[in-house]
Amino acid sequence: MLQGKTALITGAGKGIGRAIALRFAKEGADVIINYSGSEAAAVECAKECEALGARTFTVKADVSDMAQVESMFAAATEEFDKVDILVNNAGITKDGIILRMKEEDFDSVVDINLKGTFNCMKAASKLMLKKRSGRIISISSIVGIRGNAGQVNYSASKAGIIGMTKSLARELVSKGITVNAVAPGFIETDMTSAMPEKARESFIGAIPAGRMGSPEDIAGAVLFFAGPDASYVTGQVLTVDGGMI
Ligand code: NAP
Repeated sequence: MLQGKTALITGAGKGIGRAIALRFAKEGADVIINYSGSEAAAVECAKECEALGARTFTVKADVSDMAQVESMFAAATEEFDKVDILVNNAGITKDGIILRMKEEDFDSVVDINLKGTFNCMKAASKLMLKKRSGRIISISSIVGIRGNAGQVNYSASKAGIIGMTKSLARELVSKGITVNAVAPGFIETDMTSAMPEKARESFIGAIPAGRMGSPEDIAGAVLFFAGPDASYVTGQVLTVDGGMI
């Protein structure tokens, strides 16, 4: 489905980003694997993508830093000459009730999740506008739609991604570029395994499907937006949550 395409996936060494990289590789894309701290995981993911026939490029960059993002896109285009698909997946949580949430907990989550997405959207748009084609897909969250106690910082960043997605979709629709988002529910990754067991159990109890989602469930939705069947779809948010909201 993605033969001849080059995809840059942020935070692709593990979790949902890794599943997207592997699925894209399986579908014939070349993949640029970004990481910020997990170098060994990123290298391992690249090896797995290569085993599926993909060409890969692994690049370290903190997405919250515009200079590092610009260098990452410069290095990626030197390697592959183009970026057809951008997946903004990098994200963190720093949860806490508002009275205990420190200013730096708010700032770092918004800097990585929201400003990081903006930085990559801007760098990718520059390249895609020249080609008058491209796909930008960002990972939001159901928490950005319905809110969640203890996550005012995270939910603000994920709601912001939805606003940016809808605005950028309007800016770029006439230039052959689509901009969409996927809003996952409760997915089995390091991010959720760090939660206390009681909170995990109560979350799982609220999922009509009766199970947590897998990273592969999210990769399939991202693939839809990246593939040929979604060429007339833009500004949309696809919720993948086992019926939670
Ligand atoms: P994860 O396993 O903790 O992965 C997070 C990824 O983000 C890692 O690859 C990490 O790479 C990367 N990252 C963090 N800070 C970064 C930075 N400054 N620059 C570049 N990369 C950075 O969590 P996950 O569950 O797969 O999360 C992936 C995305 O899905 C996130 O945006 C998350 O908010 C979203 N999401 C997850 C769930 C869920 O239930 N798991 C639900 C809704 C939405 P390094 O380790 O190299 O820093």
